Amino acid sequence: MTAATKPLYIVLLGAPGAGKGTQARLLTEELGIAHVASGDLFREHLNNQTELGRLAKQYMDRGELVPDDVTIRMVMERLERPDCAKGAILDGFPRTVAQARALDEALSTRGLQVDIVPYIKVSEETLVARLSGRWICRQCQATYHTLFNPPKKPGVCDICGGELYQRSDDTEETVRRRLQVYFEQTLPLIEYYQERGLLVEIDGEQEIDAVYRDLLAAIHQVAGVGTE
Ligand code: ADP
Ligand code: ADP
Ligand code: ZN
Repeated sequence: MTAATKPLYIVLLGAPGAGKGTQARLLTEELGIAHVASGDLFREHLNNQTELGRLAKQYMDRGELVPDDVTIRMVMERLERPDCAKGAILDGFPRTVAQARALDEALSTRGLQVDIVPYIKVSEETLVARLSGRWICRQCQATYHTLFNPPKKPGVCDICGGELYQRSDDTEETVRRRLQVYFEQTLPLIEYYQERGLLVEIDGEQEIDAVYRDLLAAIHQVAGVGTE
């Protein structure tokens, strides 16, 4: 396998509201690899009223993490789909050290590995402001913000014309719990990936375009993919 065809695995790390989904959507178009967002997968299950959806909802409503075993199984299945043949941008997964280990193991059995872990760093104050103004497209999951990234027409997706909605877990109380869970369970991943030489810190306080530019530059360094 040549370097150019080796699948590329990017783990986007960052707190809820850091801008992972926003950036993953831009990157997936540029790099031609899949966008795998565990939160989107759970919400898809919820909409389809599957058993997994019903289970996940109990945790999501409280701002807690869905248990590792079901989460890992769901994401690993997703990574087997044909659109992940060239690799994937993982958004919201892993969120615990156990999930990170499971990902490493699954990739290594196929002779693959995580290539880079951009950590989108944002202050807590900014996170709360971003989550409280977040609007999402019901059809294509594109993300908007009432102040920072408003749609051209209020309530309507620029990309597909779909209806925009606010997530039921983007309320102040649940946001606080989600941030607490992030600090307790996900922050240890920074050290995990730092030890493996994969972590690259990105200043997430900047505007969307500037964050994107920094992300592409970092990815280009490790992967040599189209960022000129
Ligand atoms: P995450 O996937 O990390 O939870 P999102 O990508 O959904 O975060 O972004 C959270 C909110 O902040 C959204 O409303 C989005 O439009 C907005 N946002 C994302 N990146 C920025 C940025 N760099 N500056 C200002 N607002 C942003
Ligand atoms: P955020 O905007 O906080 O990054 P997500 O859409 O990624 O939100 O996640 C929403 C919810 O889905 C989380 O609060 C959690 O309940 C559940 N979830 C998503 N990804 C994971 C994961 N990797 N492990 C456990 N639970 C997850
Ligand atoms: Zn849309």
